[in-house]
Amino acid sequence: MIKKKVLVTGGAGFVGSHLCDRLLKEGNEVVCLDNYFTGQKQNIVHLLNNPFFELIRHDVTMPFFIEVDEIYNLACPASPIHYQYNAIKTMKTSVMGAINMLGLAKRIKAKILQASTSEVYGDPQIHPQTESYWGHVNPIGERSCYDEGKRSAETLFVNYHKQNNVKIKIIRIFNTYGPRMHPHDGRVVSNFIVQALQSEDITIYGDGQQTRSFQYVDDLIEGMTRMMASPDNFTGPVNIGNPNEFTILQLAELVIELTNSKSKIVRMPLPPDDPTQRQPNIDLAKKELDWEPKIQLREGLIKTIDYFASII
Ligand code: NAD
Ligand code: UDP
Repeated sequence: MIKKKVLVTGGAGFVGSHLCDRLLKEGNEVVCLDNYFTGQKQNIVHLLNNPFFELIRHDVTMPFFIEVDEIYNLACPASPIHYQYNAIKTMKTSVMGAINMLGLAKRIKAKILQASTSEVYGDPQIHPQTESYWGHVNPIGERSCYDEGKRSAETLFVNYHKQNNVKIKIIRIFNTYGPRMHPHDGRVVSNFIVQALQSEDITIYGDGQQTRSFQYVDDLIEGMTRMMASPDNFTGPVNIGNPNEFTILQLAELVIELTNSKSKIVRMPLPPDDPTQRQPNIDLAKKELDWEPKIQLREGLIKTIDYFASII
């Protein structure tokens, strides 16, 4: 018996495709909406023969009507090179996409989850980041189309909840990696693995002392689905990330070790406003969702390296 009808925007992307897999596996009916800006049909091709899976090419900046029980709003490019490619479109995707999906949720009384981001904390001045921290974002910088777009989306979510009683859930996702990242996605984990496997130089931006805390995609999907299933009075925002923090140089060295690569490390200029440190405080997720990540970096990287080795 079908449990729920679920809409996943951005479902052909890296995270969205894993979410579609998980929701189908749990017996739900899934509608995947995507405009394929950064996603690929390849990510969901294995689902196309499943009668409980439906694929719709659509842009979230345009209104969309459907009857579902739950909406996961993931549509938005996530890699800095892609979200900066057309900054106005990125902002429209976050803001108009949120308005369209919240309007839909209000009309059909669906529960809706927003894939927000650790980027709402900008270049954080408190460390690790708790949900109560308001962030340190440059509103006119290279990253602002994404950061401010996602911050505005959170504002919209909270106000649709307060004004219209829409059932909302906000998760702030920290750097996530795993199979199905696009090989030219531009984010650090996929860049380093692809470079190492092809014996190309490993490109470290800046001195490599900036930090990130890397989460394997399966842990994110577990946290995301737990958040959707949590009691209605827990709206978030809640951090979903792996608190183990690494410098970018440590990541490069680990990728070289695990791939047995002969690649050399080279330095490139640090992009403007690149956050110097990032680490989630996940006490709230532990308490409210009984969730914490299970897969540590070495294990997750091995799975991800196997994936890239199979497609390159
Ligand atoms: P991704 O780029 O692989 O996936 C985004 C998907 O959204 C793609 O399939 C893309 O084609 C689609 N999309 C973009 N604009 C659209 C539009 N206007 N209409 C319809 N579809 C559109 O990125 P991802 O890593 O899978 O990220 C998924 C979500 O999670 C994003 O909202 C992102 O901001 C958020 N997030 C991801 C991370 C991470 O580390 N992966 C961290 C923080 C937040
Ligand atoms: N980075 C790097 N080399 C690359 C890609 C990224 O050194 O080839 C750095 C980047 O400058 C940043 C970190 O790795 O400090 C994470 O970058 P990513 O684009 O993955 O995500 P975000 O900056 O949004 O966390």
